[in-house]
Amino acid sequence: MRIDSGFKVTLIVVIALILLAGLLVRRVRQNRETRCIDRMYLLQSAKEQYGLDHEGAPPAGFDDLAPIYLPAIPECPSGGRYTLGALDAWVSCSKHGSPDEL
Ligand SMILES: [Zn+2]
Repeated sequence: MRIDSGFKVTLIVVIALILLAGLLVRRVRQNRETRCIDRMYLLQSAKEQYGLDHEGAPPAGFDDLAPIYLPAIPECPSGGRYTLGALDAWVSCSKHGSPDEL
């Protein structure tokens, strides 16, 4: 059976597009994870500063951090939910974990 050269070119183009789409999706995911980690560092810093200003007491919630320690509470770019946790624990994201796990 002989394969038409036009079909071969089309097949190669389709395979290349599938590979490129896969790389693009992976890149977008990595970008979101990186931005999420940056935001967790901001939250962690604000939480620790709050603890220093309140004799070691952790913030009761996100409302204790904004607008004094952060201009606004950051959100995960993938829609994950942040958990502040104790002062000696890392902030974590429901989709990306915490920076110390990555
Ligand atoms: Zn996240």
